[in-house]
Amino acid sequence: MNTSPVLILLGPPGAGKGTQARMLEKQFGLVQLSTGDLLRAAVAAGTPAGQAADAVMKAGALVSDQIVIDILRDRMADADCAKGVILDGFPRTAVQASALDELLAENGQKINAAISLEVDDAAMVERVAGRYTCGGCGEGYHDSFKVPAKAGVCDTCGGTEMKRRADDNAATVSGRLEAYHAQTAPLISYYEDNGALQRIDAMGEIDVIGAALSAAVSAIIALQH
Ligand code: ADP
Ligand code: ZN
Repeated sequence: MNTSPVLILLGPPGAGKGTQARMLEKQFGLVQLSTGDLLRAAVAAGTPAGQAADAVMKAGALVSDQIVIDILRDRMADADCAKGVILDGFPRTAVQASALDELLAENGQKINAAISLEVDDAAMVERVAGRYTCGGCGEGYHDSFKVPAKAGVCDTCGGTEMKRRADDNAATVSGRLEAYHAQTAPLISYYEDNGALQRIDAMGEIDVIGAALSAAVSAIIALQH
């Protein structure tokens, strides 16, 4: 029986899943698994999965369940995931949610909590359209909400190569929000029904949300031991 924690972060694009998952990764020694990052790496590497995903991602639609499930399953087999994982951007459909339950059952694991980051859609376009990340270390920034101390220089690693995602523009965000409401939001009741759901207000400042999340995760991990 593998008792390392498995946490899911749920929420629309812009809710702050990636930012908060990175915080939890550092604080609790868990591994952040972002299917968005895994897919972007596959696109950059030009793998068959990446080639199939590229146009779909640029259009703001969901990549096929099979591709995403395969990528996630491969990554979860890596040794570092034994420390426990935070899933960011997965599952995103009912099919992915049942595939995850099966995959975890095969390893004697289960989901400890699905944490829903609760936000207003109206604010998400501005959050997503203004965000960028450091190419050196992956730290996330935002034009208005999280600027580095020195413009263009990463606070964490001193890197100066900042990247914006091709799909982070106002036109694509509304399609991504639609996909979220049609296909992913129903998972909130799925996890509510099986008792795993926790809700966190994610409309405030990054640090305040982080503190609430960190308290919730401490309690979840304490329950486990
Ligand atoms: P965000 O949460 O801001 O939309 P992600 O990096 O999680 O950003 O995802 C970017 C894109 O990658 C999505 O719009 C979708 O095309 C694809 N993607 C990521 N995860 C999944 C998934 N679990 N299922 C299907 N497509 C996914
Ligand atoms: Zn950096």
